Amino acid sequence: MAKMGIVYLVGAGPGDLGLVTFRAHELIAAADVLVYDYLVHPDIVDWCSSDCEILYVGKKAGFHSVPQAEIEVLLVNRAKAGKRVVRLKGGDPYVFGRGGEEARALAANGVSFEVVPGVTASLAAGAYAGIPLTQRNTSSALVMVTGHEDPEKHELQVDWPKLGGLKNTTLAIYMGMGRMKDIMAGLQAGGLAADTPAAVVQWASLGRQRSLAGTVANLTELTAEAGLKAPAIIIVGEVVNYQQSVDWFEKLALFGRKIVITRTREGNSVLRSKLEQLGADVVELPLIKVVPDVDREILVDIIAELGTYDWIVFTSANGVKIFFEHFLRAYDDIRALGLLRFAALGDATIKEIEKFRVRVECQPDVATSDALADALIATDSLDSAKVVVVTGNLNRDKLIQRLENDAQAIVDRLPLYKTELLDLSDSAAAHDYHTNGADAILFASSSAVEAFGRHAALMTLAPGATQPLIGSMGPQTSASLEALKLEVDFEADDPGLDQLVQALVLNLNRVK
Ligand code: SAH
Repeated sequence: MAKMGIVYLVGAGPGDLGLVTFRAHELIAAADVLVYDYLVHPDIVDWCSSDCEILYVGKKAGFHSVPQAEIEVLLVNRAKAGKRVVRLKGGDPYVFGRGGEEARALAANGVSFEVVPGVTASLAAGAYAGIPLTQRNTSSALVMVTGHEDPEKHELQVDWPKLGGLKNTTLAIYMGMGRMKDIMAGLQAGGLAADTPAAVVQWASLGRQRSLAGTVANLTELTAEAGLKAPAIIIVGEVVNYQQSVDWFEKLALFGRKIVITRTREGNSVLRSKLEQLGADVVELPLIKVVPDVDREILVDIIAELGTYDWIVFTSANGVKIFFEHFLRAYDDIRALGLLRFAALGDATIKEIEKFRVRVECQPDVATSDALADALIATDSLDSAKVVVVTGNLNRDKLIQRLENDAQAIVDRLPLYKTELLDLSDSAAAHDYHTNGADAILFASSSAVEAFGRHAALMTLAPGATQPLIGSMGPQTSASLEALKLEVDFEADDPGLDQLVQALVLNLNRVK
């Protein structure tokens, strides 16, 4: 009989990637199948191995989500086929997430499963909107309750008047935006004072978070005026009064700013994370995609002879990922790398290598091929040395030539992936940029500009869209932008992601 798989019901937290647990991260990285929905941060799929099957079952513009019964069948079938399945859900799987139903279906079908809790939305709403959910002398109980009820479907009814009668209690209401008026009336009917403080927190923990506070009596009106919608948590109770004094997230330098970044390498989310740490709402345009494209013959030769090389050179995080997948398939011991020395270009690439606890001995200050060649030559170790350069279809000819001609190295090329232009016609991010624009758009390299240019039709802004400031990584990138007739508003002082972010903050504040 085939080996039985397992399903992990995993909470992905409220949105911010930093709020995903270590356990979740570990399971996603080892998954054969990832099943996820709406409200899960899209970058999470980058943690999967390149051969993981990724299934989105959430809502899509214009389409309904996959029905619950179908999801359950899918989980059972994949597990029965021997797969390690991660079923990822926003927040916590057992808090209004139908995790209980899925667990029952798995148990009923004899499928093993484990549950990994996540940070549920109400906790994030409290933390990121500056509202402590309990407080000595003010609130000694916290009630998480759903506002979504469908009398037609004979779902359980929440007794709002009864909840309104509770003293010293904080209510955290999920899925309550559509029925806020009735909910507030119900609470008041049960004795809750009309002037009890209440707040709405939309998209908690993300750069597009918006919150507002009022009272039980006026919250519905304030929410409608401000245009706040689901997904949001409604918080009711005296604790809302603390918001002014302990707010921190909404004070960050880029909070409320929509920043578009162009992604030219899969897995390169370092820039995104730097911007999100400053509170920005980041929209990533995935212009190109990197797909494994391995030349088996060369790969087998090089892997077998790995011990005879002196240096291995990586110029992309994807190259690293794919290389180690093959390496670990051939050897199950990292020491098979022997004395191989590592050189790499770019923060994301280095981070990927360090995940394997391997130190990068050579990295240029500036992320260009030329600088990498200089740095390698400066090690004075290349004369007759064997070097393997991991490449994509954008071959690193110049780098290789310099290592061969300027330093007499013996260089082998190891092609592992190729870069293709993505079809953006149903990309939500691309449509959003086209329709709404942004506060700024950042270009981190000439290849990003080039890919952007090749998508020209979708990348022109619709009438009425916010015209973004255009930020560039450096003179080379700026020249490519100008060639496309895009006027550069600011440039990083030195090439580097931190410098680019710094220039962005400065320039946005200037136009505030
Ligand atoms: N299992 C999830 C809840 C799913 S129900 C959890 O534990 O958080 C969906 C509801 O969760 C939304 O309607 C909204 O009320 C809330 N929600 C989820 N993510 C949110 C977020 N980032 N900010 C505010 N509310 C959120």
